Amino acid sequence: MSGARVVAALAVVMAVLTAALRAGDAQAPAPPRVDGAVALRHVERLVAIGPRVAGSPGGERARAYIVGELRRSGIEVEVQPFEAATLHGRLRMANVVARLPGRRPDVVVLAGHYDTKLFNSFRFVGANDGGSSAALLIELARRLAKAPRDYTVWVVWFDGEEARETWTATDSLYGSRRMAAELARARRLPRAVIVADMIGDRDLGIRREAASTRWLTDTIWASAARLGHGAHFLADALAVEDDHAPFLRLGVPATLLIDFDFPPWHTPEDTPDKVSARSLAVVGSVLLDALPAIEEGLTRAGAPRP
Ligand SMILES: [Zn+2]
Repeated sequence: MSGARVVAALAVVMAVLTAALRAGDAQAPAPPRVDGAVALRHVERLVAIGPRVAGSPGGERARAYIVGELRRSGIEVEVQPFEAATLHGRLRMANVVARLPGRRPDVVVLAGHYDTKLFNSFRFVGANDGGSSAALLIELARRLAKAPRDYTVWVVWFDGEEARETWTATDSLYGSRRMAAELARARRLPRAVIVADMIGDRDLGIRREAASTRWLTDTIWASAARLGHGAHFLADALAVEDDHAPFLRLGVPATLLIDFDFPPWHTPEDTPDKVSARSLAVVGSVLLDALPAIEEGLTRAGAPRP
């Protein structure tokens, strides 16, 4: 064997070994880029407020908590109050928006709801349903504020996602319907909307949401696989209407991350012990990883604003 051949053979061996090492890396989940323990503490503090129904003093306190946590980190945040006509009269609600400017003005929205559903027959504190998304978004806003971005990111906490009574087109999604309509009127719709809801379940299994924009969902699932979290992002689909729906109806690419297989849903058992720091970290890390790929997809598509 000539010297050149030995070198070539060694190069092949090295390439195979490197590929094997990379494959090994892909098996082990990457270290989380989001601090799940900190996010879980936000869940606990929100739950300590008690029920956080839209238009109630508890809702106001939850909003103050989110705004206070963001301002403490030097993040500019805007409270957008509005009046909603509900089956129980006109109620004062408010969306919360943290704007994180990027190199370009085009906006990608990361959102979730912070209200909890009204129940008169029991005390509902919504650790996972309302609490998990509100908490994770605080940590995501902090992480994103520290990193340079291409697109401008709005982190949005919607109020009034829950129905006052039974879910209908007019009794649900008060905050997101309001924001989508206002942005459409101002011709300032975002380029993409990603909504998280009920993502703290200890036993995390997120199905693809059937009505969501396929390439956005694909991009997030690809990030989950790349980070070694594929086991929590399932291949089958289910249809769930949530805060992404008003934007989808206006032609904005949008997707929803929800683990709807949650037995304590809308019961007194939706308490912090059902939520895990690890699930919050997994979803947060996947979203942070997916954002640049989503921006790339939007730039490649070059789609005009709807
Ligand atoms: Zn709910």
